[in-house]
Amino acid sequence: DVINNGGGKISSLSAASHKVLNRRAIIDQKMLSALNHQSFKVVYQPQFDLASGEVTLYEALVRWEDEDLGTITPDELIPIAEENGLIHDIGAFVLEEAATLAARWNEQGRHVDISVNTSVREFSNAQMKNKVIDILNKTKCPPSCIQFEITEKFAFQAEEENSIVLQMKELQDAGVEFALDDFGTGYASFRYMQHLPITKVKIDKVFIDSLTTQPKTQKLVEGMIRFCKSMGLYIIAEGVETKEQYKLLEKMGADAVQGHYIGMPIPSNDIQFKDIK
Ligand code: C2E
Ligand code: MG
Ligand code: MG
Ligand code: MG
Repeated sequence: DVINNGGGKISSLSAASHKVLNRRAIIDQKMLSALNHQSFKVVYQPQFDLASGEVTLYEALVRWEDEDLGTITPDELIPIAEENGLIHDIGAFVLEEAATLAARWNEQGRHVDISVNTSVREFSNAQMKNKVIDILNKTKCPPSCIQFEITEKFAFQAEEENSIVLQMKELQDAGVEFALDDFGTGYASFRYMQHLPITKVKIDKVFIDSLTTQPKTQKLVEGMIRFCKSMGLYIIAEGVETKEQYKLLEKMGADAVQGHYIGMPIPSNDIQFKDIK
């Protein structure tokens, strides 16, 4: 428990950071068994389309509840899963859950899509496209009912690996859509828009947070919306928590809003189809 700081001074790891390291190790070690024993769940958060006045999509968000560790959030577990390789199994699990639900809604005549977050590690696998198509076939889910959300980190990596973009394009040809998540927070958003088959962008919550209090943020979001519109993209605002934010985004011309003001992420059994507002 002692580390050498280089300057000749020896300091001990604080109890707090020791606990973090320990938790990380336990999460890593428990993950496979948890996945195999149904401890992973998917919750769904509604996205409200302003033109139709309806929820037209739900975003699938992974959850892991552990007796000892409590709730393990995706922000905590996804980076570990990317390292230990279980991201492929987690991604397949979430997609299969989502596709099963989307297929059921489609069967019932509901026009509600499901969006699944995906990691670049999954698309680095040359078999990703085939695996996705297999899951959609198995669950009888039309590809047009499914969308993937990619981050700017994903987009950055996709520039380096041609097979990633190729697989995305093949899926797009099959009817699957792609949305750029956390827009505006990454390395260089604009460059990727030329090459990637993206039809939607999600403006990150950090911009929405100060939207109604910071005139500069308002200008920035106005610009983002105008730019994305000119690119023919569908624009979603994430993390909308207040009526004021909602009203302003509507006025600014956003296509859709998502956030606690619209609805929290909930288990699929709790989803009720009724009009909001
Ligand atoms: P994201 O895709 O940007 O998802 C939005 C996150 O913000 C979610 O957190 C959601 O619960 C939360 N959120 C939504 N609306 C509001 C709001 O109004 N206020 C606040 N404070 N929070 C809001 P969550 O579920 O913890 O997920 C965090 C991130 O983990 C996601 O960010 C996504 O990048 C990643 N993730 C989640 N599920 C998966 C998955 O199945 N696979 C992969 N690869 N990544 C996932
Ligand atoms: Mg997302
Ligand atoms: Mg669709
Ligand atoms: Mg996001």
